[in-house]
Amino acid sequence: MQGMMMDSALNLRHYLERSGRLFPSKEIVTRTTGGFARYTYGDYHRRTHRLAHALAKLDVREGDRVASLAWNHGRHLELYYGVPSFGAVLLTLNLRLPLDQLAYIVNHADAKVIFVDAPLLHILEEIKERIPGVRHLVAMREDGQPMPASTFPLIDYEDLLAATRDDLYPWPELGETAAAGMCYTSGTTGNPKGVLYTHRSLCLHNYALAMADSFAFSERDTLLQIVPMFHANGWGMPFAAVMCGSKIVLPGAQPQPADLAEMIERERVTIAGGVPTIWIGLYRAIEEKPVDLSSVRMFVVAGSAMPRQLMETYQRQLGIRIVQAWGMTETTPIATLSVLKSEMRHDTEDDQFAVRAKQGIPLPGVELRVVDECGKEIAQDGETMGELQVRGPWVTSGYYDDARNAEAFQDGWFRTGDVVTLDPEGYIHIMDRTKDLVKSGGEWISSVDLENAIMAHPKVLEACVIAVYHLRWHERPLAVVAPTPQYRGQITRDEILEFLAGRVAKWWLPDDVIFVDSVPKTSVGKFNKKVLREQYKTL
Ligand code: ADP
Repeated sequence: MQGMMMDSALNLRHYLERSGRLFPSKEIVTRTTGGFARYTYGDYHRRTHRLAHALAKLDVREGDRVASLAWNHGRHLELYYGVPSFGAVLLTLNLRLPLDQLAYIVNHADAKVIFVDAPLLHILEEIKERIPGVRHLVAMREDGQPMPASTFPLIDYEDLLAATRDDLYPWPELGETAAAGMCYTSGTTGNPKGVLYTHRSLCLHNYALAMADSFAFSERDTLLQIVPMFHANGWGMPFAAVMCGSKIVLPGAQPQPADLAEMIERERVTIAGGVPTIWIGLYRAIEEKPVDLSSVRMFVVAGSAMPRQLMETYQRQLGIRIVQAWGMTETTPIATLSVLKSEMRHDTEDDQFAVRAKQGIPLPGVELRVVDECGKEIAQDGETMGELQVRGPWVTSGYYDDARNAEAFQDGWFRTGDVVTLDPEGYIHIMDRTKDLVKSGGEWISSVDLENAIMAHPKVLEACVIAVYHLRWHERPLAVVAPTPQYRGQITRDEILEFLAGRVAKWWLPDDVIFVDSVPKTSVGKFNKKVLREQYKTL
């Protein structure tokens, strides 16, 4: 029909071009072994074009999977935009995965090329025999870092870029439903499941993250990209920051909490995201060596439930607002966000924190419903629990080539496997993952609620609650607690149980409390319940 808008496809390339041209002097900073490497969006733009020429030389075709096995740094960011703009699909491999899973992913996704950090090459050496489909390995090195010894023919990233003098690549016209990225979710039993993102889903997610009611990304921001870029698109933050032309700070290999603190002060960071264990670690680092945090406008927490106490501590002692979001690899990932409605502005601080400790309301574009076991929507009373289901333009419509799709969807809705309550204001509150709920005598106990209640104890640093088998009740909660170092050996089981007594129902009280120095973490920094269940299964 005439008189309509142009049918122009949403494409990541557009943001790369815009930022490269409009903000050529804006900085992208990477922490390296010897200090900090700095370059500009102008350099980034040129190098990304050269990368596209290089991909063509490596005979990468549109739709091919190009993998990365890398920490957060400038070169990885070049792959983030360069690979999809070229028309290929960036598969970000989690460098902490068990080797079997890594080999499975490389083969299942049919990766043709892997861009690997030189110090991580040994990982690929170990699975070499099992990934015959990989045609090229490209090593990414910090300036001055030696080329690693390898039994593979290895290409140097910088050589590859230097091989072309052409700073402009004629980007292809891609349909907006062309695949742009791919991640595998780690939190499953059995093999990891693959999710394919399209240009359209990533572009729309970008806009959602730039909304004032979500992360409000802007050109004035300085992003510290803490979330590993191999975890669910780094939560979409690198994509959104490049879209806006924000300054980007990348922590490089193995950043420790003290490194993050230093970067926040030195680079005047305004925004960062991380799982709760990051914020626990950062707080301790700042306690030990205070830094200037005055540039920070918000931290985002997601991935696991944020202990409310920690959120309050950041706000009251450091003046920092931590906003909680919820999402999954399957939802690009950000889907809900806990921001206060204007009518809540005059509520007591206590009531406001109660809302902010929830996972929030859906972003515009995402629809959610909460259903019982029969698929019927539950009462919106903030108490009844049910399974969260979502749908929307950045929610997966099915795992890549996977037999488990049938059980993952219900009437066009994606089944998240998260058990939540929904309150009358529309805020969801995660109670647990279905598999982590403690099913005691036919009733459900939320391990997340118990953990948060325990982590409110001043002597506790980390707490993780798992179900252990019980003859009579089927399952009972067991608490695994890491005290803050100065209280190691100085806190008792009874102290914890007494502390909980007034805060949770009596039948929720853990049957036992075990003290450890540190709770084991998953590859993306969440408490590792699988390991703990295995460890204490005979209890
Ligand atoms: P993995 O499966 O590797 O942990 P994901 O990041 O995809 O990777 O995990 C998504 C899951 O993380 C969600 O299904 C949910 O259980 C949990 N999650 C994400 N955000 C939150 C949050 N704010 N509070 C509680 N749980 C969360």
